[in-house]
Amino acid sequence: MEEIVVFWFRRDIRLQDNVGLYHAIQTGKKVLPIFIFDPDILLKFSDKEDKRVVYFYQALAQINSILKQYNSQVVCYHDRVMTVFEQLVQTHTITAVYTNADYEPEARKRDGAVQTFLAQQQIAFYAYKDQVIFEAHELLKSDQTPYKVYTPYAKLWRSRLTAQHLLDWTLALKADYFVAKKEDATLPSLASLGYKTTEEVHFKSPVFGSHIIQNYTANRDFPALDATTRLGIALRFGTVSVRACVRQALQANETWLSQLIWREFFMAILYHYPYSARACFKREYENIQWRNNETEFEAWCKGETGYPLVDAGMRELNQTGYMHNRVRMVVASFLVKHLLIDWRWGEAYFAQKLNDYDLALNVGNWQWAAGCGCDAAPYFRIFNPTEQQKKFDKELKYIKKWIPQYEESTYIPPIVEHKLARERALVVFKQALK
Ligand SMILES: Cc1cc2nc3c(=O)[nH]c(=O)nc-3n(C[C@H](O)[C@H](O)[C@H](O)COP(=O)(O)OP(=O)(O)OC[C@H]3O[C@@H](n4cnc5c(N)ncnc54)[C@H](O)[C@@H]3O)c2cc1C
Repeated sequence: MEEIVVFWFRRDIRLQDNVGLYHAIQTGKKVLPIFIFDPDILLKFSDKEDKRVVYFYQALAQINSILKQYNSQVVCYHDRVMTVFEQLVQTHTITAVYTNADYEPEARKRDGAVQTFLAQQQIAFYAYKDQVIFEAHELLKSDQTPYKVYTPYAKLWRSRLTAQHLLDWTLALKADYFVAKKEDATLPSLASLGYKTTEEVHFKSPVFGSHIIQNYTANRDFPALDATTRLGIALRFGTVSVRACVRQALQANETWLSQLIWREFFMAILYHYPYSARACFKREYENIQWRNNETEFEAWCKGETGYPLVDAGMRELNQTGYMHNRVRMVVASFLVKHLLIDWRWGEAYFAQKLNDYDLALNVGNWQWAAGCGCDAAPYFRIFNPTEQQKKFDKELKYIKKWIPQYEESTYIPPIVEHKLARERALVVFKQALK
């Protein structure tokens, strides 16, 4: 049997500028590209119309339509990861498995198990840096401990950046790079995976709207403007290369670059402190006496709090799977401070709904809002949703887009009065942190 190498797609669903794929091809052996629909992971996408599943499915189909020109395809499996590798080593002579590193705590455990199994079969496992510019261990303080504050982290990030970090790993593809296609290994239908294709979901390939990036600093905080890149989902599933994003940012906008650095900062925090996926980074915040009122939580989820900016944001999320960043900050602050509902409830709701959901970024930002994360907003900083609306949606354009019938005089009354809620939060937080 011919010796081959495997390339395993995960959070890097693209053929261009893909570090692991580049190295797999460089071996000179035929590459078998694979993707695994792991039932354990699919369980997390419990909504049968989940747009994220449709998104990465479409991305895989697009890769397949390109690979078809090279008489190849991504071989897809619908099984547990370990079972797939157990079968693969039986049916092929594999010398190495190539992939790109995934830094989430569960992914690291999974990859450790795969690597051990493959090592027992004398098969190498190579996981490349592709999803980030700097891996967590590459940017440490002088005493070799992780940064817990963004500003010095970002300073070091910028000072260490070289052209080498921004290389483009795109290769001109050739048919003889890949294991030839077999008829029986096409992409399974979404229906066979248990999902529906919703007609209205049609994601475009990510493009850089240069005017958006150029005007980002001035416009990014105004939710009525289409002024942020919407690349979150592409970065999450790797349909865009982060190196390409950084190259754009360096040419066009410093503020946008800072956001990409926030992304890596939160990824590094989760990597170094995996407990923070479920627990407060600052442990003393576990003492907060949350009210956790379920009726109020439901009103928040549905966008019926009586605060129009909060409600518009939640309705945008429920209808589209997206919410503008400024509004995410306002709704998160409202949930944890005004309603005193545990940030984990909000984090879980966002995880279910956000197309660009990413564990490290979601947890990092929720803990930022609750005050319990690293470099978080101090607990006494409580957004006033009405003032935020006056500042960032003065003409009510965003609000009227998501609540078309909105009229100030007839709108549902607030479920909690701002001044009372603010004072209550200050007391509860102070009590917990004394
Ligand atoms: C409570 C809360 C939860 C969030 N959950 C997520 C999440 O699950 N996934 C997610 O990608 N972003 C999350 N964010 C961060 C931010 O809101 C989104 O990244 C951004 O709104 C996505 O829109 P965009 O792609 O147009 O981003 P742009 O504004 O165009 O930014 C470009 C990219 O930079 C990164 N970025 C931007 N802002 C942040 C930030 N505050 N923290 C870390 N990275 C950032 C993202 O990868 C983003 O796609 C959250 C923010 C808050 C306040």
